Amino acid sequence: MRPATLTLVACLAGGGALSAQEPAPSSGVRYGRLVIHDALVIDGTGNPTRGPLDIVIEGETITRIARHAGDETHEADRVIDAGGMYVMPGIVDLHGHIMFSRAGDPLPKDYVYKLWLGHGITTIRDPGSGVGLDTALHHARLSASNAIAAPTIVPYATVTASAPDEARRRVRALAQAGAAGLKVFQLRPDVWDAVADEARRVGLPIATDMKIQEYDAVDAARLGVRTLEHWYGVPDAAIAGPQAFPADYNYDDELDRFRWAGDLWRQADPQRLSDVLDAMLASGVTWDPTFAVYEANRDLARAQRLPWFDEYAMPNVLAFFEPDPDSHGSYHVDWTTGDEVMWRENYRIWMRWVREYAARGGNVTVGSDAGYIYQLYGFGTIRELELHQEAGFHPLEVIRHATSNGARALGLERTGVVRTGFEADLVIVDGNPLHDLKVLYGTVGAGDTGAGRHGGVRYTIKDGVVFDARALLADVREMVRKAHAREVAP
Ligand SMILES: [Zn+2]
Repeated sequence: MRPATLTLVACLAGGGALSAQEPAPSSGVRYGRLVIHDALVIDGTGNPTRGPLDIVIEGETITRIARHAGDETHEADRVIDAGGMYVMPGIVDLHGHIMFSRAGDPLPKDYVYKLWLGHGITTIRDPGSGVGLDTALHHARLSASNAIAAPTIVPYATVTASAPDEARRRVRALAQAGAAGLKVFQLRPDVWDAVADEARRVGLPIATDMKIQEYDAVDAARLGVRTLEHWYGVPDAAIAGPQAFPADYNYDDELDRFRWAGDLWRQADPQRLSDVLDAMLASGVTWDPTFAVYEANRDLARAQRLPWFDEYAMPNVLAFFEPDPDSHGSYHVDWTTGDEVMWRENYRIWMRWVREYAARGGNVTVGSDAGYIYQLYGFGTIRELELHQEAGFHPLEVIRHATSNGARALGLERTGVVRTGFEADLVIVDGNPLHDLKVLYGTVGAGDTGAGRHGGVRYTIKDGVVFDARALLADVREMVRKAHAREVAP
């Protein structure tokens, strides 16, 4: 991350000092020598909890983990007493769209970032977002130099093209511009082939959200795609012939599209599915299922009345979720009991195959896709962890999905594990996430301490920079309070 400091100077010189258009300056502090004292440690690899241990951090790096390692605390610039608390690696959200506006109105620029950090998320991959690659890169540099309070940002960029030559030019241009990877949606097969080939030449990984097209997950695996987002293309590859949609189905009607997507896992042939998984496994495809973002489909009333909306949801975010054919993912204009029942069955089959993919050695990760379909930033990521547990994973595996597996998918070799020599990306939690993943929800630290949940996320440490998670969430509540006050003003 060191070269980022140099680039920051260029950023500031080009764009002036941090303006009102930028996120607020970072409240985080990086210490010469920081000691986390007496913590119970979940290392993120799947190993059981160890402790109490001291974790010594020098600058951005974990330099020692041992019992009483911090006894020379008089030499520390800061000591955090984590007695009775749990330390786990910072969460890697593989599907975190940076958003600065919703429903046509702006969001405060640090609203999304603070919700993420407040929930222990220290790295996000932006899978191509509306803010544009230049802004994502700029904020990635500001975050790396601790100028703003934000997770580490890994910016992917969307490739669209209608012909192979154009596709190759675009891939080269995005590599030149600094994209860390490419996001590919629907493309003609010859354009897909060109994108994959050029991406390999310039060394950019591909994340794909396949939706429905000529290519499916087996093709994506053959083309060397790094991560498969959601689940599109997997059951499709295991259905003989086209998907059994009703005669009046129209893909461009989102109600049709999301409703009947809920029948695809049931249509898939189990023996074929097994072969599809093997093809993905052979190519080392990471599966980032993003369970939570579809949850409204199996229980719409729950999704629409989540307890954290009152204090943490900006009014324009909630407005965007309301059924409206002009807002992506806001298709619940006629969502029936039958749709929910179909989607519940869909989840059961889908979850079973994600579990099977991991059992065969496949890399499974956590991505939220928050900002769509009633999923709020940060909260949606924690909900995703809960749904991995529902899929049959032990909480230690769930935390591995959310930490070291995500780092592996991004090629980050020194993050995602609480280990000497690794970057200090850590979450200090007052409560045991293995007992109850709900301790990670931002609402817990803000006073919902019932059910033995203690104080929730206390500190999020990113590259050795210590953030007070409760203070970040208090900032968010203030943003939301002000937005509501503006709404009722005459
Ligand atoms: Zn997305």
